Amino acid sequence: MKESIYTIPINEVFGRLDGCPMCSLERGLESASLEYVMGAAMMEPDVRVKTNEQGFCAAHLGKMLAMNNRLSLSLLLESRLMEVEKALFARGGKMAPVECDAKKLKEATARATSSCFVCARIEGFMAHCNENAIFMWNTESEFRARLEAQPFFCIRHCDMLLGRAIKLLRKKELAGFAGAMARLCGAYAGALREDVSAFCKSFDYRNAGAEISAAASSSAERAAAFLAPST
Ligand SMILES: [Zn+2]
Ligand SMILES: [Zn+2]
Repeated sequence: MKESIYTIPINEVFGRLDGCPMCSLERGLESASLEYVMGAAMMEPDVRVKTNEQGFCAAHLGKMLAMNNRLSLSLLLESRLMEVEKALFARGGKMAPVECDAKKLKEATARATSSCFVCARIEGFMAHCNENAIFMWNTESEFRARLEAQPFFCIRHCDMLLGRAIKLLRKKELAGFAGAMARLCGAYAGALREDVSAFCKSFDYRNAGAEISAAASSSAERAAAFLAPST
């Protein structure tokens, strides 16, 4: 497979061997997307058309508020509010009394709250990365070994990768890929469960005074990062 713009970041995160590589990729992409939209891109008319239309989810608006760039954020919000007023509440808008019909109202409220420019940008990039990682596993023995040496993939990214693999690989290749992911994630889930159990058992009066291992102490955080990682 020829080198694509996705190969370099994929190789970079798979080389770290620190947590779920796709979570690292997504975190990096999220910061880059936030910097992008709050930076010069927000003055580009085609980007602004998209941010006005898609808006931002609560999580990303929270991160943008914490970025200490109130002028960029306020300019983005000013034109987004204009769009919301026009599309929903002004005369002819989907929530305007004159247009009031239950079906339109349902569509309008769903659309007004479900889209996010940053989430959409991340999803688009991650779809290409998932696809590339599967191709690299299938065609490069070195990458195959590196993928299988990862500490783990979180459940969400395991699901995303398998979802793409179903579409891209032949039956035998798919069995190989799914088997490798199941071995890796299954072994990690088992070890994690043992650490969580060790933590629970440390509360038993029979273990009073016994030292809690570092693996048991950090097990709840690590279980959360495996089951439902936050970016
Ligand atoms: Zn992940
Ligand atoms: Zn978002």
